Amino acid sequence: MKEEKKLYKSLVTECVECEFCKKQHLIDSKDYIAVYGNICEGMHGGLIGNNFDENKRLARISIFCKKTCFFQVINNMLDIKITGDKKA
Ligand SMILES: [Zn+2]
Repeated sequence: MKEEKKLYKSLVTECVECEFCKKQHLIDSKDYIAVYGNICEGMHGGLIGNNFDENKRLARISIFCKKTCFFQVINNMLDIKITGDKKA
C-alpha cells in the first residue's frame, strides 16, 4: 500500500526517483531505467527489484539513472566493471 502511494505520487508529479541517488527524472524522459520486476543472478537471489507482492503481483517499479546508477548497482552486486558511458 505504501509503495502504491509512492508510485501514485510520482505519477502525479510526472517524475520518478532514482533508487540509488534519489535524482528526479521526468517520467517522459529516456534518461532512466525502469525495472518492472526483478533482476536475478541465475535462478537464485534477486539483485534488483523485489517488486512483486506476496500474491506475485507487480507492487512497485525500480528506477535508476540510465548512464550511472543502473551500472553502478550492477557493478556493486556482481563485483564486475561495466559501464553505460562509452567515454569511460
Ligand atoms: Zn541515480
